Amino acid sequence: MPMEKLIVDMDDVLCEKGFIRMINEFLGTNYEQEDAKSYYINDLIPKDRIKEWAKWYSNRNTYDYVNIVENAQEVMEKLNQKYELYIATAYVFRDAPEISGKTLNDKYNFLCENFPFIDPHKFIFISNKDLLEADIRIDDSPKKLMGKARLKLLFTAYHNKNLTETELKENNFIRVNNWKEIEKILLK
Ligand SMILES: [Mg+2]
Repeated sequence: MPMEKLIVDMDDVLCEKGFIRMINEFLGTNYEQEDAKSYYINDLIPKDRIKEWAKWYSNRNTYDYVNIVENAQEVMEKLNQKYELYIATAYVFRDAPEISGKTLNDKYNFLCENFPFIDPHKFIFISNKDLLEADIRIDDSPKKLMGKARLKLLFTAYHNKNLTETELKENNFIRVNNWKEIEKILLK
C-alpha cells in the first residue's frame, strides 16, 4: 500500500517563539505571544516603526531565537517511517517581502540541521498551501488547513485558542495540543 501523504507546518508547530523574542529585543518589551491580537504577531510593532523593524529583522536569523517544540523531533522521526512526510512552510515576510529570500535560506538551514532525517527534497516553501495535495495536514493556522485532506490537525497556538468546538467541527479540524497527542493519533 502506498504511504499516506502527510504535510506538516514549521512555525509554531515544529519550532516556536522566534518572533516574540525578536519583537521584545527590538522594542525592549516583555510581551507574551498571547498579547498579539492576531496571527500576525508583528502587529505588536507600532506602525511608525515598521520600516526600522524590517531592517533590524533582516540582519538577524529568526531561527537563532526559536526553540524546538517539545517532542517534535522524535515524533517526526517516527512519522517519517510511516508516512510520506513533507514540511510545508510560508516564508514571504508580510512587512517587507523583499527580505524573504534570507528567511527562506534561514528556514532551509534550520530544517537541515534539526530534522536531518527528512530529505530536503521534501521541504516545501510556499504561500498558498491549498495547492498541495495531502491525506493529512498539521498546521496552527486554520486558514492554511483549508486545502483538501482526510484528516486535519489544528496545532494549538496563541492565535487559535478561541476557536470553538462548533467551529472546529464545521471545518473538520481536530485540535492537538502537543506532539504526544499527534503521536497517539497518527502512530497507534
Ligand atoms: Mg505555522
